[in-house]
Amino acid sequence: MRRVRNFGRNVAFVPDAHYRPGSVAEVLECLRRHGGAKVRCIGAGHSWSRILATDGVLLDLGALDGVAIESGSLARVGAGCTLKRLLNVLGRDGLTLPSLGAITKQTIAGAVSTGTHGSGSHSLSHFVEELRVAHAAGGEEIIAGGAGLAAARCGLGALGVILDLAVRVVPRYRVEERFENIERLGDVLRDKAAWPLQQFALVPWSWRYLVWRRRRTLARGSRIGAWLARLYLAVFNDVLLHWLLKHVLLRLSDARMRAFYGMLGRWMRWSPPRIDDSVRVLTLRHDLFRHVEMELFVPGSRIEEAAGALREIVELAGGTRKQCSDALRRSLAAAGLEEEVADLRGTWTQHYPLFFRRVLADDALVSMAADGERAGDDWYSISFFTYRQVEVRFARFARTVARCILLLYRGRLHWGKYFPVTMAEAALSYPRFDEFKRIAEAYDPARAFWSENL
Ligand SMILES: Cc1cc2nc3c(=O)[nH]c(=O)nc-3n(C[C@H](O)[C@H](O)[C@H](O)COP(=O)(O)OP(=O)(O)OC[C@H]3O[C@@H](n4cnc5c(N)ncnc54)[C@H](O)[C@@H]3O)c2cc1C
Repeated sequence: MRRVRNFGRNVAFVPDAHYRPGSVAEVLECLRRHGGAKVRCIGAGHSWSRILATDGVLLDLGALDGVAIESGSLARVGAGCTLKRLLNVLGRDGLTLPSLGAITKQTIAGAVSTGTHGSGSHSLSHFVEELRVAHAAGGEEIIAGGAGLAAARCGLGALGVILDLAVRVVPRYRVEERFENIERLGDVLRDKAAWPLQQFALVPWSWRYLVWRRRRTLARGSRIGAWLARLYLAVFNDVLLHWLLKHVLLRLSDARMRAFYGMLGRWMRWSPPRIDDSVRVLTLRHDLFRHVEMELFVPGSRIEEAAGALREIVELAGGTRKQCSDALRRSLAAAGLEEEVADLRGTWTQHYPLFFRRVLADDALVSMAADGERAGDDWYSISFFTYRQVEVRFARFARTVARCILLLYRGRLHWGKYFPVTMAEAALSYPRFDEFKRIAEAYDPARAFWSENL
């Protein structure tokens, strides 16, 4: 049987059987034929966690990609439809999705199954109103309300095969974007009410924040300006900077790499201001250069504390700091992490900015932005990228950083990204995880779709 690999090439597996059914009837037939076997679906394979891996039956629903707009606010979408295709179809009717991540390669079922999100809105899962799901025995049912819907909205592939789903849609809108280079996180956050869609990056080794201030606008802006900005960003950001990183920067010594980022953080003061269609502003071609990403979620109320701690840990791992501050050491000691963090010293030099996005609380059971200790709190996600092949040094660094975020802030890990802890460790941060598990078992008593594989 053919080996299957994910986008990041950090996950590979050989399923026992691999199907690409052409219709719902064929999906149900596959399930009946393999009754009792372990089953997983695969979307576009853009997850970096093992959530898509199986040694059982693998179903690819790429052929089920129909889109029907049911009203001005709801679309029914085949599970295997990519976000790109969905946005194109919606766009023709003057509609779009209420929430968007950085790229549009994912399938709708894959994206909602892991709580895919952008900045300044809820995750896509939050906007799912109904799902049609096939069971292991080959039957199907609609999940349309109550705790079942809250579980299925971000279902981790555990409730059955999503055949299609109904998702809320909104009229197309434009976004205004301005760029700023800011020294202090407090100043970045202070303007979040005026720029609710903003996202920002902390440039390591300069420790400055690059901020993409963003908000919806009714203004039209200049069409030529928008086209020039698209061209500039595609060439400079999406291609040139990433090409440089892959082919030049990663070959330099750690000290030179740090010097480069020191300069980038200080010098990068301009990016074209623009007003353009939301899809153009909110997405980019981050899929052009292969990489691996881990994304951590922290309650909004603790973001400044967490950002400070992460900076100290990155500096320690990079060898530019001897030890963490007294305050952080006390917190680490209380969580039993002091030695583990100290052992990172000089083992890993971070070679990409840390990206921050704000995600509003979801009405879902276990999406990363589902309610935590304080109901309705928003969340900040912090992404760590590596453009090196994943090996022991990154794996150790990522695991320790993830454990710090989990244990110090009851933080969470993106289910679809690099996942260096066990499901049991991750589940502790979700007050409703046991309820999720019970609901998944009710839909899937034989546990054909359950996987601890993350
Ligand atoms: C370059 C890049 C950029 C990204 N940017 C973002 C971002 O901005 N924000 C963000 O939140 N995430 C982002 N991601 C992560 C990505 O959105 C998620 O990992 C998403 O789950 C991938 O969708 P997919 O279609 O590739 O699904 P896969 O990775 O193939 O599968 C994901 C999960 O969905 C399940 N699944 C798929 N189809 C079905 C089905 N029909 N029925 C039941 N379960 C199903 C699978 O079993 C698996 O558990 C990015 C990933 C990449 C590679």
